[in-house]
Amino acid sequence: MTEVKNIRKMLQDKEIEALLIFNPENRQYVSGFTGSAGYVLISEKEQVFMTDFRYIEQAKKETKGFNIIEISRDNPVTDIIKEYNFNTLGIEDDFITYEQFLEFDEKLKNTKLVPLKKSLTEIRSIKSKEEISKIQRAAEITDKAYDHIINNIRPGLREIDIALDLEYFMKTMGASKVSFDIIVASGYRSALPHGVASEKPLEKGDMVTIDFGCVYQGYCSDMTRSFVLGQATEKQKEVYYTVLEAQETALTAVKPGKTGKELDEIARKIITDKGFGEYFGHGLGHGVGLEVHELPHVNHLGEKAMQPGMVITIEPGVYIPEFGGVRIEDLLTVTEDGYKLLSNTPKELIEISC
Ligand code: ZN
Ligand code: ZN
Repeated sequence: MTEVKNIRKMLQDKEIEALLIFNPENRQYVSGFTGSAGYVLISEKEQVFMTDFRYIEQAKKETKGFNIIEISRDNPVTDIIKEYNFNTLGIEDDFITYEQFLEFDEKLKNTKLVPLKKSLTEIRSIKSKEEISKIQRAAEITDKAYDHIINNIRPGLREIDIALDLEYFMKTMGASKVSFDIIVASGYRSALPHGVASEKPLEKGDMVTIDFGCVYQGYCSDMTRSFVLGQATEKQKEVYYTVLEAQETALTAVKPGKTGKELDEIARKIITDKGFGEYFGHGLGHGVGLEVHELPHVNHLGEKAMQPGMVITIEPGVYIPEFGGVRIEDLLTVTEDGYKLLSNTPKELIEISC
């Protein structure tokens, strides 16, 4: 499995003997296990999956090449690890609780616990073909769901009705869940970048922003579109096309070597030049994978160069208090010579007749 190989290479580079993983996304990445309890132990020679009796059958089914050990009250994970006598053991310092850390530290007296920092999430930021095809499927379901609701939108529907319809539709298409609380923000609420769907009914003249995604076989999608109920005003059009220009310009600049920071600056310059700079208060995008927000950074923190296999969003927005807001977000993967869109919902401004 390339995932285990990637981890072993990291261990070698960092001169750590073994590592213990139990963060659910890291655990699924390296083992394929989708259950909610289990520990993965990887060293140069060992590849162990430890879980309790509830998940033994599932672990046998979902993991490949792992030595599966049942943990219990009499056979706790610390006892199992102790037997390997590792000098160093990498731990997920951004996930382990302080209580767990103290327990490991006390019970594994001869083993030095080494914080892995962001190493695992950095490995996860470059996706394999299989991972990209799952994200692609999640994005297709998202496109289809949007197409489904956009044809049924009318004044009087509540934001929450649209969110429920999207969720139901995506689940019938094979999604296991939504990748985050669906954002449906209409009218004055569209000025809230993260306005989770409320009971507000849609009204004629509203600019509406819908930001949503689903999880397919563990992998997330994420997409945003904004549209107008009725005819767009001049100002709505101006804001919309400014955001669209920023989005498409940043998008076409994506290629290996570009940093997240540079992409952010490209979009921000366009929005600032049009006079809306103060209303673009968030970063340009983010990585997407087993988590809906993960590395790489696609904002002012993004100092690392884009690499083929990364999956990111490009999502500039303008949010003007009282007036409303627009965000346009696509999901894409970085390729050898540029990028490939995973979201394929059209982006021209839709004015819904009503
Ligand atoms: Zn989004
Ligand atoms: Zn996003």
